[in-house]
Amino acid sequence: MNPSYPFSAVVGLADLKLALVLNAVSSRVGGVLVRGEKGTAKSTVVRALAAQLPQVAVVAGCRFHCDPRAPDPGCPDGPHAPDAAGALRPASLVELPVGASEDRLVGSLDLERALTEGVKAFEPGLLAAAHRGVLYVDEVNLLHDHLVDLLLDAAALGVCYVERETVSIRHAARFLLVGTMNPEEGELRPQLLDRFGLTVEVRATREPDERAEVVRRRFAFDADPEGFAARWAAEEAALAARIARARAVLGSVRLPDSRLRQITAVCAGFEVDGLRADLVTAHAAVAHAAWQGRDVVTREDVRVAARLALPHRRRRDPFDAPGLDERLLDELLDQTEPAVSEDPEGPEDPDDSGGPGSGPHRPEGPDGSGGSSDSSDSSDSSDSSDSGAGDGALDGASGGSGAGGGPQDVAAAGAPFRVPVLKVAGVGAGVAGRRSSGRGRHGRTIGTRVPSGAGPAGIDLPATLLAAAPHQLRRGRRGPGLVLRRDDLREPVREGREGNLVLFVVDASGSMGARRRMTAVKTAVLSLLLDAYQRRDKVGLVVFRGASATVALPPTSSVEAGAARLRALPTGGRTPLAEGLATAADVLRVERLRDPDRRPLLVVVTDGRATSGGDVTRAAAALAGVTSVVVDCESGPVRLGMAHALALRLGARVLPLESLGDLVRDRRKAS
Ligand SMILES: [Zn+2]
Repeated sequence: MNPSYPFSAVVGLADLKLALVLNAVSSRVGGVLVRGEKGTAKSTVVRALAAQLPQVAVVAGCRFHCDPRAPDPGCPDGPHAPDAAGALRPASLVELPVGASEDRLVGSLDLERALTEGVKAFEPGLLAAAHRGVLYVDEVNLLHDHLVDLLLDAAALGVCYVERETVSIRHAARFLLVGTMNPEEGELRPQLLDRFGLTVEVRATREPDERAEVVRRRFAFDADPEGFAARWAAEEAALAARIARARAVLGSVRLPDSRLRQITAVCAGFEVDGLRADLVTAHAAVAHAAWQGRDVVTREDVRVAARLALPHRRRRDPFDAPGLDERLLDELLDQTEPAVSEDPEGPEDPDDSGGPGSGPHRPEGPDGSGGSSDSSDSSDSSDSSDSGAGDGALDGASGGSGAGGGPQDVAAAGAPFRVPVLKVAGVGAGVAGRRSSGRGRHGRTIGTRVPSGAGPAGIDLPATLLAAAPHQLRRGRRGPGLVLRRDDLREPVREGREGNLVLFVVDASGSMGARRRMTAVKTAVLSLLLDAYQRRDKVGLVVFRGASATVALPPTSSVEAGAARLRALPTGGRTPLAEGLATAADVLRVERLRDPDRRPLLVVVTDGRATSGGDVTRAAAALAGVTSVVVDCESGPVRLGMAHALALRLGARVLPLESLGDLVRDRRKAS
C-alpha cells in the first residue's frame, strides 16, 4: 500500500490542519466541518491526519474494536475475558459514502437468514468500524437527513443503537467526525451544523508561489510516494510525538475561572444559542494549550478556539455570510481580559511573556527543533487574513456582478416572508425532502409488496407471516413455529415527502418597471428560495431580459448561491418571454437525465407580457406536463391579464404577487 501524503507537507490550509490537530489531541472537541470549494485537498489532509493518530490496542477478533484494558461491557462480540489477547492496529479511517444505506451505517441483522434459516447474524456497520478512529463524510450536506441524524446521535452519545424488528443491539462508537461540504451544493440544516465541534472555511491559496509549491510537492509525491514520505519522515515523527505529548498533558491543563468567564462572554457576545458553543470553545482552548505545551489556558488559546468553534453557531439565516467578525472577537477579548495579577500562574511559559495581545509572535514548538511546519500552523492561525479573504469571496459573489450591457438597475430585496406550500401533483420517487408526496425508505408505511430481485428493503413481519400461513400444512408443519420460505417475505411500501427541483423563471425586463416592483419580485423569490431550502429542494434560476434568457443559477442545492445571484440581478430592457421558457425547458431536459427521480416545479415570475423574441405558445408547449405556477406581477389599476393567458398555456396555477405574503397572513388570522 502506498503511504499517504504526509500531513507536514501540506502547504497552507493552516486552519484546517490546526482544527484536525486539536481534535487529535482532545476527543471532546467534537469533530470538524470543512467548508470549501472543490479541489482544495480537503480529503488529502484528513487522510494525512489519520495516519498521524497513535495506534490503538484492540481485543483480538473483536469486530467492534474493544480496548483490552476496558472492553465495552455491552459489546455484541463480548463479553471479553479480562485477559483477552490484544493487538495494536492503526487508528481506522472510515469513509461514509453519501449514498450509504442505514444498514450500512449502523449495521444490520440479516433478517432473511434469521427467518428462513433461524440464524441470528449481526453484521457491524461503518459506525462500528470507525470506533476509536476517524469517520470521514465527504459532502456531508448531501447525506440523507435520516442518516445525518443517526450519525450525529452516535457522535454525541458515543454509542450506536441498532433497533430492528427482532433485535436490539448497542455498541460503543466513539470517533473523530470529519465532514466536508461545498456550500455551493447546499447547506446543512442549522441544528446539524451545531453538532460539529469546529468549522473551517478552506479555499485554495491565491498566492502564485504557494500554488507552485503545492504542485511541485504533489508531482514529487506522485512520482515517488515512498521517497517523498521518507523525506518528510522526521517532520511526521515530530508531529506524531507532539500530538502524543499534548494528549498526555491534556488532563493537567488548567482553565482558570477568569478564562472560562472570558469564553462565556465571547460566546454571549456573538449571540450563539445554547451552551454547546461554550463547551466546545472551552475544550478546544484546553486542547490548544496542550498542543502549545502550556499548562494554563491563555488568551491566545481562547482566541484560536473561538475562531474555530463559533462561526457556524452564530448564523441565524442561511443567507448570512459565514466566518467570524475578528474585530468583534478582539474587542470582546479585550473587554474581558483578566488583570495580569488575577492569573495565579503568572507568565510561567516563555511563549506567553510577550504579554496579552502581542502581535503575531511565532511561538516555537515545544519540541524545539525541526518543527518548523508545525509551529507555523499555530502562528498562521492567529493571522486574521485567512478568514477575511473568505468573507471577501462571498461578498464578491453577491455584489460584484452588476456589470453588463444595456439599461439596467439593481433593485434591493426585502426581508423574506413565509410563502404558501407549492406542491407537485401525484406521488413521486425522488430523494427525501419536505415538499411533494413521495415513496422512499423513510415515510409512513402505506402497504406491503413482494420484494424485487434486489432483495427486501426491510421486512414487514405481519405481512410475511400472513403470506406464509396458508401453506403450513402443505409444507409439513407439525409442531409450533411457522415454516417460512423466501418467497413469503414482504417488504413495506412507504410514503413520505420528496424534495423537488424548483426552477424559477424570472422576468427582469424593463416591463417589470419600477424599482419598487422589482424589490417586491426579489423579496417574493427570496421567500420562495428560503422555503425551498427548508424543504430540501434543488433550486435553479433562469432570468430573461434584453435580448436573451440566461441560466443565472444552474440547479443546485445551494440556496445561498441562489440568493446571492438574485440580489445582484439587474433589471431593464425588453421581455423575451419565449426565450425564458425555452431556456427553462432546456434546463429541465438536462436535469431529467442527471437526476431522473427528482420532479420539477416550475415557478414563472412575470407579468406575462412579451415584447421581443419567439413564439410563446410554442415555448410553453415544450413545458407540457411540468407542474407550474405563474406568479403574476402585473399591478396598477388597468390590468391586461397576460399572466393568466400564459398560465392557461402552461396549465399552471396563478398566484398574484401580492398574495404570496397575504395568503400566509390570512391563514394566520383564520387560525
Ligand atoms: Zn468487543
